[in-house]
Amino acid sequence: MERCTVKLLGFDIDTFTFEQACEYANNICGQVVTINPEMLSYSLKDVDFAKIINSANLVIPDGVGVEIGLKINGHKVRRIPGIEFAHKMIEICAKNNNSIALIGARAEVLEKAKENLEKEFPRLYITYCQDGYFNDENKILNELKIRQPRLVLCALGSPKQEQFIFKALNLLPGSLFIGVGGSFDVWAGAVQRAPKIYQKLGLEWLYRAIKEPQRFKRIFPTLPLFLMKVLKEKFLPKGV
Ligand code: UDP
Repeated sequence: MERCTVKLLGFDIDTFTFEQACEYANNICGQVVTINPEMLSYSLKDVDFAKIINSANLVIPDGVGVEIGLKINGHKVRRIPGIEFAHKMIEICAKNNNSIALIGARAEVLEKAKENLEKEFPRLYITYCQDGYFNDENKILNELKIRQPRLVLCALGSPKQEQFIFKALNLLPGSLFIGVGGSFDVWAGAVQRAPKIYQKLGLEWLYRAIKEPQRFKRIFPTLPLFLMKVLKEKFLPKGV
């Protein structure tokens, strides 16, 4: 299976369906980025972060903002919620007896997420767990290097998780890394995902912002500005 990407603000976004993305990811190593408008906007400001996105092995459109942006550019691509994608990859690892590592979130959240995942997938082999509030990054990288898990899920928030993964890539050539944001909080039961109707309407971001009002600051003005940039790129010639 080959990647088929389309451009959004100059970045390649994969167009796989959910099932195709899982199948593809199961057969590769490297970095999966679950991209959203905030990350794309940040990429335009930070050259190093842009390099990380450009060198990722799979960039899945996570979030309705990216879906709308792609639609403006004439591409009908369904978004793939990162949390569901990561969950499916865990399931695949459990089925294939492949080990996984969990890095990120608060210690008690991590512990509970691990416990819940082990209950859900009795054959799951979690070889390494580390909460997301560490000082000695090299120590974590060395520990990971020794364990060489097949799947490494990093829940450090963006851009921290993508930057951490980028550093780990060379040390773990046989691993697949996914930045999963707040997924451990959901798997731990500390945070609820939006009800299905919000998910279906692409309004999960709105539900999260209502539940955690500090998120409004992150979403606005990022989301409207992002869409304006996409529109500008489409309708105004370069340099205008
Ligand atoms: N986090 C972490 N270390 C940090 C900062 C954040 O482990 O230094 C965790 C935080 O506890 C949460 C996750 O990263 O579990 C970030 O969640 P957020 O909801 O911000 O991510 P999003 O899903 O919006 O990308």
